Amino acid sequence: MVPTYLIKPHLQRHYPTVQYAKGIYVYDTNGKKYVDGCSGAVTANLGHGVPEIIEAMKEQANKVSFVYRSQFTSEAAEKLAETLNERIGGETRYWTFLVNSGSEATETAMKIAIQYWQEKGKKGKNKILSRWLSYHGITLGALSMSGHTARRERFVPLLEDFPNVPPPYCYRCPYQLTWPSCQWRCADELEEAIIRIGAEHIAAFIAEPIIGAAGAALTPPEGYYEHIQAICRRHEILFIADEVMTGLGRTGKMMGLDHWQAKADIIALGKGLGAGYTPIAATLVSEHVIEPIRNGSGVVMSGHTLSANPLSAAVALAVLQYIDQHRLVQKAEEIGSDLFTKLCRLQQKFSWIGDIRGKGLMLGIEFTVPDTKTMMPNKWAFTDIVVTKAQENGLLVYPSAAGNGKDGAAIIIAPPLTIERAQLDELVSLLEEAFHHIEKHFP
Ligand code: PLP
Repeated sequence: MVPTYLIKPHLQRHYPTVQYAKGIYVYDTNGKKYVDGCSGAVTANLGHGVPEIIEAMKEQANKVSFVYRSQFTSEAAEKLAETLNERIGGETRYWTFLVNSGSEATETAMKIAIQYWQEKGKKGKNKILSRWLSYHGITLGALSMSGHTARRERFVPLLEDFPNVPPPYCYRCPYQLTWPSCQWRCADELEEAIIRIGAEHIAAFIAEPIIGAAGAALTPPEGYYEHIQAICRRHEILFIADEVMTGLGRTGKMMGLDHWQAKADIIALGKGLGAGYTPIAATLVSEHVIEPIRNGSGVVMSGHTLSANPLSAAVALAVLQYIDQHRLVQKAEEIGSDLFTKLCRLQQKFSWIGDIRGKGLMLGIEFTVPDTKTMMPNKWAFTDIVVTKAQENGLLVYPSAAGNGKDGAAIIIAPPLTIERAQLDELVSLLEEAFHHIEKHFP
């Protein structure tokens, strides 16, 4: 029975009720089967119902689920922090601050960056720069850093005016340049913004290595983040990588930023860390950032009641072990390149597929007015049409944004990293059927 008083994202829409889910499939209470082509919200990276994760959950729940982080630490949380450091850090040592959602992870990153400069006696450095076409979360601090017009517009009076820099949007380059002759013109805008605002006011620059919800897997060209990192270092600004969507194998590397030769000072993780089995996220802080805080006030001024609860930590630890044991990072790269090829074939059949992009199993499709490169007008609500038609046809895809963030339509295809090659055909043929249906009823 559908709970009548539950607030759902769209109050006037009917949502099917989920019955159970296994692997890449989700089943509703009417017995309808869906291929999870986007891991929910690019979250269920291992697929559904993995016995090893459920076992780890039971085992930890039998020991202890919750202790307050100001009173106890736990073996599960300590081991998770150690494992994250081993798997992500490389030569850099990272200190882990556990939270419960991606928004909390980016907002904590923002606060730690500001606190870092305060502890170093630079109290004026409290702005965060970010890019237009970005999404860092829904809480007010995280939304302040986000260049996602639709999600911001209602709350603009409450937000800090942070986003400043154009995204690396090669498909619609605002300077009408092409890479490599562009020489990363869009990255240079970061330097211009820093000079305009004054580095003495700026704590950090935050970026999603590959832009998700606001850019349908917008992928910067080679050399882009090396350029960004050099600018940040030159002006003494911390670099925060928001790896909430891209982290932990999704893009075919352990971290999204690993596709470039660049390192972040602070990393935000979420989604794939709990892989949908539990709410957990993390802010990873490099040694040189935590050091002045440890030697200064000695307190990180952030945290939530459920931060670092042992149950979620044990689940995340089991998720990391599963990723390694099943070579999911490599698998995302290999299977992702097959999926990319298949989506490019679809592009030949539909004159309104403008761009296919992304890396690993985080792929974006941007739609255009047929036979043109013109953005889909907002009034067509085209993203919504695609998502709804695909779901009716038994395929889940993730709505994204493209174009200028208002006009423009796009989706993300991001199945669980455990998807088998044979299942890719099933996914793509369901998508193609949905596209044929949409074409017949074109706005
Ligand atoms: N950062 C990125 C890159 C995201 O994609 C999201 C969510 O889509 C968030 C932050 C916010 O995460 P959450 O929805 O878990 O708060």
